[in-house]
Amino acid sequence: MAPFIKGNIDLVRQLNTATIYRTINYDGPISRTRLVEVTSLAAASVTKITRQLINAGLVQEVSQEESTGGRRPTLLATNKERFYIISTKLGRGFLEVTLNRLNKEVIDHRKLTLKYQNPEAVLQETCEVIHDILRSNSQVNQQRILGIGLAMPGLIDPTKGIVIENPHYQFKHFPIVEFFEREFNITTFVDNDIRSLALAENYFGASQGIKDSVLISVRHGIGAGIMINGQLFYGCNQNAGEVGHIFIEEFGPKCNCGNYGCLETVASNPSIIRQAKELLAHGHPSQLTSLPSYQLNDQEVTIKDICQAALNGDELCQAVIKRVGNYLGLAIATVINLFNPQMIIIAGDIVKAQHFLFPSIKKQMEDKALQSFACKTRILASQVDTNETIGAFSLVQRALLEGKLFTRLGLNSM
Ligand SMILES: [Zn+2]
Repeated sequence: MAPFIKGNIDLVRQLNTATIYRTINYDGPISRTRLVEVTSLAAASVTKITRQLINAGLVQEVSQEESTGGRRPTLLATNKERFYIISTKLGRGFLEVTLNRLNKEVIDHRKLTLKYQNPEAVLQETCEVIHDILRSNSQVNQQRILGIGLAMPGLIDPTKGIVIENPHYQFKHFPIVEFFEREFNITTFVDNDIRSLALAENYFGASQGIKDSVLISVRHGIGAGIMINGQLFYGCNQNAGEVGHIFIEEFGPKCNCGNYGCLETVASNPSIIRQAKELLAHGHPSQLTSLPSYQLNDQEVTIKDICQAALNGDELCQAVIKRVGNYLGLAIATVINLFNPQMIIIAGDIVKAQHFLFPSIKKQMEDKALQSFACKTRILASQVDTNETIGAFSLVQRALLEGKLFTRLGLNSM
């Protein structure tokens, strides 16, 4: 029984330390007296844990606040300049790697176009970029890199650190965390890119302070990151949030999942472009046909072109975006009935035309979701999705806030 009891004591110590660290992170600068009040931990525990956090360099004493007589209390704040995070986003055809301080200050950032799709080449390229960043920033003490975060599309098991399936790069059941930890000897975390973005939105973006929210990403595919009570919801196969496969349109186009009329077949970026081109092919007038890229590159049209034309008054593009808003709104009404979130966040280039998109979404929400739910759900554009690596950064930040990096920093052995 002894190891079991020891394990529990270590876990309690880790949880208490994490509680103190989180409170200083969110409420600091804060006095030890106030920490006791907020956390309900014993004063002796708060004194001991804050001393350990200071010794590890995660927390520092800062200038004292004015006091109404008597001795001024010393205030504690997190020290985010001392530590670093490496964040990696592997997207469709591109790789971005950022070396940040824990305060998000960018030390180095690289973006590469990836022309190949085999996993060995992608892994080798990623490792070379990270090695080069470390070589180029030799002033950064590698012992102070808290972790490597990896965000990528596909089916991911973040608990086991495995890419179950990534069709674009043909990963299949690959132990990616073990691979990076062996290469760099730095604790590594992996998760799906949309879930990571939902977490980043909660830490730094639109849903800060919101406990229940759903981020819906509209890009090549459509997926959701679901936050319940301030935590990402994973589901039993670790991949909840496949809203792209909610059934929307009878006799709709065939989806790559094998079904017909899924949300993804009528509201993802490729399907939005397809709908605009179908209307053009029928001879409807649009600014799109006078774009140089359309005339020079075999009628090439992008989502950004469609949004910009809609904002410039192009009726065809406005109609396409309103129709997409109706489709998204139908799926979002289902999401609202299931999860009753306080906020829905839409990510992707399509939000550039939110002036036309959001009213259609709201109309469907009001018509199809429970009235008492829909009237309380706000809909907002993502505030963080222009930063490709912020999701991966958030995976490491979460591990720190939950106390999972304390052992590595030597905290639990003190
Ligand atoms: Zn589908």
